[in-house]
Amino acid sequence: MKIGIAGAGIAGLTAAYRLSQAGHEVTLFEKENTLGGLASSIDFAGTKIDRIYRHIFKSDLHIVNLIDELGLSEKMLWLESKMGWFRDGKLYPFTTPLDILSFKPLPFIDRVKVGLMAVYLTKVNNWKKYEEITAKTWVEKYVGKKVYEVIWGALLEQKFGERAKEVAMTWLYGRIHSRIAGREKGGAKEVLGYMDGSYQLLIDKMETEIVKNKGTIKRGVAVNKVIVENSKATGFSTHEGEFKFDKVIVTAAPAILRKLVEFPKAYDARFDKLNYYGAVVMLVRMKKQLTPYYWINMGVKDSPFVAMIEHTNFIDKKYYGGDRVLYLGKYLSTEDALYKMPNDELKKIFFDYLKKVAPAFDEKEVLEMHIYREPFSQPIVPLHFSEIKLDYQTPIENLYSANMSQIYPEDRGMSYSVMLGNEVAKKINTSF
Ligand SMILES: Cc1cc2nc3c(=O)[nH]c(=O)nc-3n(C[C@H](O)[C@H](O)[C@H](O)COP(=O)(O)OP(=O)(O)OC[C@H]3O[C@@H](n4cnc5c(N)ncnc54)[C@H](O)[C@@H]3O)c2cc1C
Repeated sequence: MKIGIAGAGIAGLTAAYRLSQAGHEVTLFEKENTLGGLASSIDFAGTKIDRIYRHIFKSDLHIVNLIDELGLSEKMLWLESKMGWFRDGKLYPFTTPLDILSFKPLPFIDRVKVGLMAVYLTKVNNWKKYEEITAKTWVEKYVGKKVYEVIWGALLEQKFGERAKEVAMTWLYGRIHSRIAGREKGGAKEVLGYMDGSYQLLIDKMETEIVKNKGTIKRGVAVNKVIVENSKATGFSTHEGEFKFDKVIVTAAPAILRKLVEFPKAYDARFDKLNYYGAVVMLVRMKKQLTPYYWINMGVKDSPFVAMIEHTNFIDKKYYGGDRVLYLGKYLSTEDALYKMPNDELKKIFFDYLKKVAPAFDEKEVLEMHIYREPFSQPIVPLHFSEIKLDYQTPIENLYSANMSQIYPEDRGMSYSVMLGNEVAKKINTSF
């Protein structure tokens, strides 16, 4: 069978790998010149680094198993990480249960409740009931308004801005579940995974396997249209011409899929509710360590970035010629002024605030800086999301969809994009 796939992020690459492995004639189209989508890397300090900060959890079995299958397990670095919380002009440790019990911005009883809530949610296996209630209402009702304001509200606003109040409890449940499950027994340590050489190793290996399986990869070729004949998808239209296929998969975000093809009206209406937030990520190379933490949550409303990630507090600086690596990240609407502003203005805003968190920061010591804007970064998960979530098979015969919004009730992550690729491939394999 001839299969066309649009989008060479982790989901598209996995689907192409699986389907080519099963003997199908696969062509993968990527609009960018590089593969990997959100997980792609750049040349940096004599090695590769992910454009956007990333780590995996031990519980991320879809990607852990794929890495193993591709013979890359020995490249995995599983290391302890330290988390901090910035609030009221101070940095607090926020990794272990003891850190949380000592977290001064909350009254003691609320600190205990934060721990109990996490333990409770990891024991519950029925996520369906959390579709009925927003995370804000649930936390305020069962754990308390103060805990919402200081911890979960701050986190939700970091991810979803003013839309935080719409987010279903299912999202918070999914996130806490995977995060705690990824911890060592007892929950005291957080061990995270990174690839020696960046996740580019995984992307390159999948590319090699696809080509070995006689697949074709077309870089810099966007799919402009899904060709539909007699209500069946029969190919893709691109600037290189039309390509005919027996089955096609689109792994791009719902807003892109919607533009590629005309769906029946009722189905098309679902896309109005399949919204994403964008992200701005700054990557900095410098000489100085700023804090002892890998990941700092900015628990304050006035910070222009929501997370400060000192990558070299997780991965040894020796991998970057002794330099330090910092990411600053912000989730936001693509209509937000910060998303649209020129890089110079954004840099000034980020760096001015960074000095408040880490007075040791000196812009003159910055050796290299990159800014990335990603319009489709975080699906927004409203109440009753299972009623609008897309299936792999669309109403158009032979057209399949596999994008991050289809990851549910878990929160999106590379491992679940591997799952999307595996599952959409399985659907196609069993449909013959
Ligand atoms: C700020 C941020 C931090 C993250 N941190 C982590 C982390 O620490 N750990 C983790 O596991 N995950 C993390 N993630 C999530 C992870 O990056 C994603 O889950 C995963 O990379 C998504 O892969 P995908 O293939 O589903 O989508 P994408 O990577 O978005 O791939 C879609 C691809 O389709 C291409 N495309 C779009 N339109 C077309 C078209 N018309 N024709 C052809 N190609 C097209 C795009 O260029 C892109 O390459 C993070 C995400 C963000 C935004």
